[in-house]
Amino acid sequence: MNCPCCSGKAYEDCCKPYHTGEKYAPTAEALMRSRFSAFAIPNGEYLMQTTSPSKRQNHSKKDLQEWGEINDWTMLEIVDKPSMNKVEFKAYYIGQDGQKHVHYELSTFKMIQNRWFYVTGEFLE
Ligand SMILES: [Zn+2]
Repeated sequence: MNCPCCSGKAYEDCCKPYHTGEKYAPTAEALMRSRFSAFAIPNGEYLMQTTSPSKRQNHSKKDLQEWGEINDWTMLEIVDKPSMNKVEFKAYYIGQDGQKHVHYELSTFKMIQNRWFYVTGEFLE
């Protein structure tokens, strides 16, 4: 299957090795893409594992899994990469209401012991 992150690559050659733990995402953008794919699949466990340990208490695996499941994740657009640890993106999805939605966010990532983690996001409009 085509990777849900819209890279144009096969899932096996794109986000899957990150989801299975075979590899770590080498850049903040790669991590961001793999997290979008993890919503599409969904894989709540991966979303928790790639959240910064200091922020994990603000999230639950169940909520992440459900948020992935109830929406239909149609497209990811990387808008900008203002610095090494920031990615601005638009995630397009069809919600439970059957309507198209756009989640527009500037995410901040952090590298800890050679692994990238999601720290926080600022919602944009
Ligand atoms: Zn991918």
